[in-house]
Amino acid sequence: MLQVTDLHVTVEDKEILKGLTLTINAGEVHAIMGPNGAGKSTLSAVIAGKDGYEVTQGSITFEGQDVLEMEIEERAQAGLLLGFQYPVEIPGVKNIYLLKSALNAQRKAQGLDDIPAPDFMKLVKEKLGFMKMDASFLQRAVNEGFSGGEKKRNEILQMLVLQPKLAMLDEIDSGLDIDAMKVVADGVNSLRAEERAILLVTHYQRLLDYIVPDKVHVLVDGRIVKTGDAELAKQLEANGYEGIEESAA
Ligand code: ADP
Ligand code: MG
Ligand code: MG
Repeated sequence: MLQVTDLHVTVEDKEILKGLTLTINAGEVHAIMGPNGAGKSTLSAVIAGKDGYEVTQGSITFEGQDVLEMEIEERAQAGLLLGFQYPVEIPGVKNIYLLKSALNAQRKAQGLDDIPAPDFMKLVKEKLGFMKMDASFLQRAVNEGFSGGEKKRNEILQMLVLQPKLAMLDEIDSGLDIDAMKVVADGVNSLRAEERAILLVTHYQRLLDYIVPDKVHVLVDGRIVKTGDAELAKQLEANGYEGIEESAA
């Protein structure tokens, strides 16, 4: 589904990704772990198409298409979505309006008509219930005054409504208490499907007790230095990243 090959990325003249290669197949959950500043967020941002990153070498393909040739909206409509690609507060834009326009944009790209209003309400209410969110969230401006935990739930809600083919989630566990993390993890687990892949970026192993990944990659200084299964995350928790860096060197 996703093939990243020898990716080099520069931000403000500084090389952040230094030859990163990664393959994600449909049906798989991958976790990217690594120390602060390793380039984890840069990787998901470049795949999603955020501004400010210069790809100097390498390639990214998604279902055989050249991702680097696609605009950010085209990537989202192709089913490649970074959780809260729009995490900023959008005063005056109701959450429900953002969800509906994003869904309809995706449907339009697939040649479908807008979703009928009653169907949309039914879909959103079901997903809200799943995320244990109150319906009043829909009427609030996007992320305005949301707590950290509410923003994360809202991010997963967006994924549940849009059902992307590749869902990328960056640090969805940060700042969550244990109950909120379980709800968020349940939401992510409900996205697991044969035709979908999930890329989780996380600094800590804790989340991976609840969302058990098929593959774990350790990203250090712009490169993947080790790949393993869920067991690797447990080793990292016990031993930290330093041993990994030494063994990679
Ligand atoms: P991680 O998510 O692994 O903590 P990031 O991808 O956020 O790492 O950052 C990797 C490196 O790139 C860091 O040194 C960070 O300071 C730098 N960086 C990321 N974004 C920018 C930016 N917009 N401007 C300047 N430096 C940046
Ligand atoms: Mg960081
Ligand atoms: Mg980060």
